[in-house]
Amino acid sequence: MDTLRDALRVFNSERDWQKFHSPKNLAMALMVETAELMEHFQWLTQDESRQLPSSKKEKISEEIGDILIYLVNLADKLDVDPLGAAMTKLEKNRQKYPVSKSKGKSLKYDELD
Ligand SMILES: [Mg+2]
Repeated sequence: MDTLRDALRVFNSERDWQKFHSPKNLAMALMVETAELMEHFQWLTQDESRQLPSSKKEKISEEIGDILIYLVNLADKLDVDPLGAAMTKLEKNRQKYPVSKSKGKSLKYDELD
């Protein structure tokens, strides 16, 4: 992740794009890219979304790349370690969703008994 962050710093600096990269703009760009990802799944059935042709997977892969780029840019701007944040959140989710209560269920944590 640090390698990607460093490459993005160079890429953005070479183009003098940091001036456009406010946290607000990066969050908005992240959502736009997420919408582009979702567009590939729009109107597909559940089964179709599991059996994508390779041409579609290639386009989806590009959107995943775009999303990660903006996410890492945003995290860098806010001085957040994205992997650390994800691991911290995963641990919180482990506690909110104990296996004994949540296995095989899609209920929200406050709906588990
Ligand atoms: Mg895109």
